[in-house]
Amino acid sequence: MPISIKNCNTHNLKNLSLEIPFNKITCFSGPSGSGKSSLVFHTLANESKRRFLNSLPSSMNFFDRVPQSAEVESIEPVLPVWILPQNNPIVGSRLNLMDQLELTMDVAQLYFEPFSNLCPLHGAVLEDGGALFKENVKDLIENESDVLHFLIDRDIYSEKISGLPVRSYDQQDSKVREYVGEDQYWEIFRIKGSKVSGLEKKLSDFPFLKELSSVLYVQNQSSGDGKFIRLKDEDVCLECLDEGVKAPRSVDELIPFNGVGACTPCKGYGSVLEYSKGKMVKYPSLSIEDGAISVLSYSKFSTYFPVFLKELKRAKISTKKPFSEVEDGVWPILLEGKGAFPGVLEMLSWLEEKRYKRSVRIYLRGLQVEKRCSSCDGTRVSPIASRYDSLREQLPTYGEILKYTIEELLLELHDLTVKGKSVILNRALAKLELAVEMGLGQYRLSAKLKELETNEYQKSLLVRYLSYKGSGSLFVLDEPSLGLNLEEQKVLVKYLKKLSSGNTIVLVDHSKFVQSKSDLVVEMGPGAGHMGGEISYIGKFKKSKAKSFDLETPPKAKGKVSLKGVTFGDFKIKKVEIPRGTISTVSSYLESFSKKVMSDVVANDLYLKHFDEKLNYDTDYTVKSYNKYEEFDDIIVYKTNVDRASGRSTVGTMLGLSPHVRKYFANLPVSKNLGLKDGHFSPNSELGKCSICEGKGIRQIDMQFMEDVSFPCDECDGKKLNKFYANLSDGRITVHEAYNTPLGELFESLPTTPKIRRILEFLKMMNLDYLTLDRTLPSLSGGERLRVKFLNTLQKNIENSLLIFTSLSYGLSEVELVKVRELMIGLCGKGNTIILIDNHPIFKDFDVIDIELTD
Ligand SMILES: [Zn+2]
Ligand SMILES: [Zn+2]
Ligand SMILES: [Zn+2]
Repeated sequence: MPISIKNCNTHNLKNLSLEIPFNKITCFSGPSGSGKSSLVFHTLANESKRRFLNSLPSSMNFFDRVPQSAEVESIEPVLPVWILPQNNPIVGSRLNLMDQLELTMDVAQLYFEPFSNLCPLHGAVLEDGGALFKENVKDLIENESDVLHFLIDRDIYSEKISGLPVRSYDQQDSKVREYVGEDQYWEIFRIKGSKVSGLEKKLSDFPFLKELSSVLYVQNQSSGDGKFIRLKDEDVCLECLDEGVKAPRSVDELIPFNGVGACTPCKGYGSVLEYSKGKMVKYPSLSIEDGAISVLSYSKFSTYFPVFLKELKRAKISTKKPFSEVEDGVWPILLEGKGAFPGVLEMLSWLEEKRYKRSVRIYLRGLQVEKRCSSCDGTRVSPIASRYDSLREQLPTYGEILKYTIEELLLELHDLTVKGKSVILNRALAKLELAVEMGLGQYRLSAKLKELETNEYQKSLLVRYLSYKGSGSLFVLDEPSLGLNLEEQKVLVKYLKKLSSGNTIVLVDHSKFVQSKSDLVVEMGPGAGHMGGEISYIGKFKKSKAKSFDLETPPKAKGKVSLKGVTFGDFKIKKVEIPRGTISTVSSYLESFSKKVMSDVVANDLYLKHFDEKLNYDTDYTVKSYNKYEEFDDIIVYKTNVDRASGRSTVGTMLGLSPHVRKYFANLPVSKNLGLKDGHFSPNSELGKCSICEGKGIRQIDMQFMEDVSFPCDECDGKKLNKFYANLSDGRITVHEAYNTPLGELFESLPTTPKIRRILEFLKMMNLDYLTLDRTLPSLSGGERLRVKFLNTLQKNIENSLLIFTSLSYGLSEVELVKVRELMIGLCGKGNTIILIDNHPIFKDFDVIDIELTD
């Protein structure tokens, strides 16, 4: 029985019907915009998700509001669906690779022993805390007639007990005496030596003693002997008692997501935000008078600037020399203040109190850098969890393990046997093996998800899906082979086959290899937009004749920019030579290593030498010497991940097309009559945005067991704008429609400028003219996003700069890549130098930058 889709008209689909075989792999392909995503994601995946949710009990009736976005007569049967989207969501800053692979709990449970009688920190045999206390007390008794005084710290006494005691403990004389308020220990009760068997009952009158594991002072009245004894009910480790730590006894204490297990200084994030000197003084080559100290140009601080100058003069520090020449004397005054100048640290702490203001938060964040937390070294767990050592004979401590790479963890766990834990162990091993096979081996378990690039993020999600053990589900995967080399693609196919033995798999994938291994191939087309929307081929994979392209060759290099004596982490690199004025690819022993060297070292260092400011990378490297870096006007790094800043950007804002449309509507006679401005047509402006959804157009429900569900805002129907403005029309289309018309079509009817026409030309060349102004950058696939960023460069007329692209070939067909090649060669014509971190064969005739390690 297949999944049957009937009469589908979503987006550009033309009344399409199709059957997808059960428990097989079906692969869709076709040019961008041909309708693959409309069919596979917007129809099959989303409708399955929606219908599945709607089949849940009606008590969860908010799902009724999940909109029917797909236009389809029927999909039968509906399976629970897992979706691997190509865009990586903006993920919380707490999550790391270990969480993504669902290993966090497994590793914690490996270390956690619920019924062990050994201390997980010290390995000492645990003793009965209650019995131990009694033993200690008994040691003090010489005769049955002796009287024992029990005293506790006066702070606890005053908090927990009303009234004053009869006696207290005079530490100077080491004697229990008539109550004196200043004494540190106050008596709570006393018993006779003969009554020591009733001690348990006496203690139970004071339940807080056990809760607080209090230290009691016990003294024998006749002998004067006394000692401090800690009262604990549960099993205790003597060493833990000595150290004043509580032996961890629950798996929660090993998990960084809650109060008990999390490292306190970083709240379980593994990193902390710190004020950075480099961000306070952005222009150290300028003099102080010329504005070297950027933090003092903030409007709220600027009144202190003259005061600061006066203090510097008083301290005989030049304000006319470059900051970098006088900085040693300036920093203490700048930070701590002097005389009438309060110091930046204090000024920032005033601001901290105004964090509730968005603008203040943004400003403060701009002065901070994210640093690995030094208390937990990025492991996110508390110091006690970190010392957890229950597998002491076989593994390092829990904290050490959390610092491992995936490969290192695999090696450690490989020969491990832990009684009663083979299920957890095997599950973790299977996942680790797959992750290594997929090329994630050298990544740290603690690598933050938000720092991964699209393909790394995708790989990690793939590992999670491919190690799924259930059956009867539908998996819908977008371009799973992206960023995988042939070996990794073989692994992908191997696991997909395994998964398809009980689950139905639908892929969109351009890889000929993946297509050839799929059970059914569906080709959409023939063109994009209204030229597509049909099935142009369905059946077994057919080997098409390899097309040959006439490839233009890039210009010859004009000299080299070189960096020598580079060290990066533990690596030593002989030299990095960048051919100028042409395009180069990078080769090193690992693709991810090339990427890191290029972005974190080369770009960072060139940028620093050039602008006295680092790019965003806080990395540990040195460069002994370099030459000719000054020949670049600018250094730009393009990445596929979604950065926070672009979270709400749209295609329209990125390409500078939205302002044009807003202006057009604001200039209509009807708008002028109403006094409307450009802002009334912008969802980012207070004037125009829908006040209910704040211009987002959607509201979201957090679904713990599945992906989040979002539905359009009821107030504006998802239009983001105030209803009235959204529906304002020029007689042909409304503002809202303009934002949602494919760009190619939209500007056929709106007035254009030469600049807009040039952008449109590029959009067509790169097969992107089906995008709309309103598409957000995170909603684009990695490839689309990169091409939009690339277009942004083209239209900005960038010259004589160094451009570094990661994975430019993402999601592009060969025909599209040929065009991208031409555009890049065009950029070289303007004196630009391009570095591609991308091993697509279509780039194989370019120069190569060899990153050679020295020993
Ligand atoms: Zn212990
Ligand atoms: Zn920490
Ligand atoms: Zn709204």
